Amino acid sequence: MDNYCVDRTARENGMHIVHICSCRERPDLEEQDHLGPFATCQEALAKARTLYPKVNGCIHCCKPCHRN
Ligand SMILES: [Zn+2]
Repeated sequence: MDNYCVDRTARENGMHIVHICSCRERPDLEEQDHLGPFATCQEALAKARTLYPKVNGCIHCCKPCHRN
């Protein structure tokens, strides 16, 4: 299980990016919402979708969940 978080600030395309908390690309602590531990990034994105309508996986730490 990894701990996941989501960026509070949307990107230009309105997407909130989901990261594993240890990702070097993740936002600062005060800029993120903690999602909790999940076995897969798909589950973490499902949780993030309850907070934000548009979410995407980080290309570095959540590559299987990253969509262009
Ligand atoms: Zn990341």
